[in-house]
Amino acid sequence: TIGMLALDSHGNLSGACTTSGAAYKLPGRVGDSPLIGAGLYVDNEVGAATATGMGELMIKTVGCHLVVELMRHGASPQQACQQAVERIATRLGDYAAYQVGFLALNRRGDHGAYCIQPGFNFAVRHASQDEVLDAASLLK
Ligand code: ASP
Repeated sequence: TIGMLALDSHGNLSGACTTSGAAYKLPGRVGDSPLIGAGLYVDNEVGAATATGMGELMIKTVGCHLVVELMRHGASPQQACQQAVERIATRLGDYAAYQVGFLALNRRGDHGAYCIQPGFNFAVRHASQDEVLDAASLLK
């Protein structure tokens, strides 16, 4: 999945995502990316989130909506991404077998990302930052 989140100079959030879907998917499978709330969610009052990984898990938990709601209730984008992944992981038990990753941006322009599996890279661009990061680099 390629997901993009943006905050413009007027304070408006937007997002988009695209995917080729899961490997070896059954014909007709609909993943999380085209489902608002699952693979992408934007609420201009709060923030935006997009997801990558096993789409069925994002659909079952309405994962990106969950990330935005966690931010609405006070979580930073980083905390929200981590809490959402951990909620999914707790439900699943053997979560390590599945990739679940979220990227989030709030309306102040703070970003966060979390994925249990290594190698979840994302790029950040704004006036004072222009770099590619690994989600693990955001962990304290
Ligand atoms: N989330 C996508 C899907 O399940 C897969 C991906 O991350 O590319 O369709």
